[in-house]
Amino acid sequence: MLKDSPLYSIAFNKCPRCHQGDFFVTKSAFSRRFDEMHTDCPHCGEPLTPEPGFYWGAMFVSYAFYTIYTLLTFFVFVQWLKVDLDYYLIGLTPTLVLLTPYFFRLARRSWLTIFTSYDPNKQRVQIKNT
Ligand SMILES: [Zn+2]
Repeated sequence: MLKDSPLYSIAFNKCPRCHQGDFFVTKSAFSRRFDEMHTDCPHCGEPLTPEPGFYWGAMFVSYAFYTIYTLLTFFVFVQWLKVDLDYYLIGLTPTLVLLTPYFFRLARRSWLTIFTSYDPNKQRVQIKNT
């Protein structure tokens, strides 16, 4: 995948501005601290929470991911593989719960990437106290 693409930061847990610093503190979405984010990018200093309540919009992105996942699995299992709808729903519910941390992180990275353009030359601004 090209490093200049906005999908790079979404897929690889990177800052959408520099594609170098990590977005979330932990690498894995399935750790106990899956929701902890850096306040600023550790590489370029880009604020990862631009304003209070910024990530409310990520909730709708997350909803879209759940919908896409549900529709894709429905067509694969019920329409294509002819799995009974009851068994499909019994299997779907735990997978939606288990994928919650993954979709949470994916939605937040996607949401910030919408509003941030890639700038590989951005450097951390050092503020000197005088
Ligand atoms: Zn950065």
